Amino acid sequence: EGGTPLLELRDLHVYYGAIEALKGVSLTVGEGEVVALLGANGAGKSTTLKTASGMIQPRQGQVLLRGERVDGIKSHELVQFGIGHVPEGRRVFARMTVLENLRMGAYRLKRPDPADLDRVFTLFPRLADRRKQVSGTLSGGEQQMLAIGRALMGKPELLLLDEPSMGLAPLIVQQIFDILREINAQGTTLLLVEQNASQALQLADRGYVLETGAVVMSDEAGALLSDARVRAAYLGEA
Ligand code: ATP
Repeated sequence: EGGTPLLELRDLHVYYGAIEALKGVSLTVGEGEVVALLGANGAGKSTTLKTASGMIQPRQGQVLLRGERVDGIKSHELVQFGIGHVPEGRRVFARMTVLENLRMGAYRLKRPDPADLDRVFTLFPRLADRRKQVSGTLSGGEQQMLAIGRALMGKPELLLLDEPSMGLAPLIVQQIFDILREINAQGTTLLLVEQNASQALQLADRGYVLETGAVVMSDEAGALLSDARVRAAYLGEA
């Protein structure tokens, strides 16, 4: 590696009222990397992504993009800085068509590029087939594909993904992870929150483990996959 990371979170402290959800989280994501964020329910994974994408402001700490502070910038403006966020639960616009949802993903860009739509339809041929379908009637897997496609329409350098496999059948999960690998191979950096630690670590270069709002481990993905504590806590092994 070396050089300035694409994303750096520095000593983030985030509160919901009196609850301190992040207690000094620091991490880096290098350009071109896939980084996985693991941890139990409530560990602070979603809060970390929301802080990186400007949806939540830290009380203390910094968010740096290529070394420049971006904390304090609102999430819709951060799209122009190259950060895309695929939130937990997908949140597609249910009454809009697939195509309308995808266009929404590009509306903040100064110069929308027609090639972006082709790219999304090549990655997700099912979305091309269903472009005129109302999104609320898509399957869960298709809605997840649409949420990812919509974020790609904003031309992110860094894509933040919150539980992309949640609630999906194993075959669909595999498809989604294959496509994430392809998206990364095309040059997009990924920071991924996953309950599915095994899949996430197979895709990732590195990973961080969060517990009650703090990073307790960080290592190469392969090292985490073979770590006894990680296996016991997150890979369902005794
Ligand atoms: P999950 O997988 O359940 O989403 P997580 O690791 O993503 O877990 P967060 O959602 O970031 O965890 O939550 C971190 C902590 O902050 C938890 O204690 C949670 O209860 C609390 N929290 C999250 N959102 C809110 C909120 N809107 N109001 C109050 N507390 C919140």
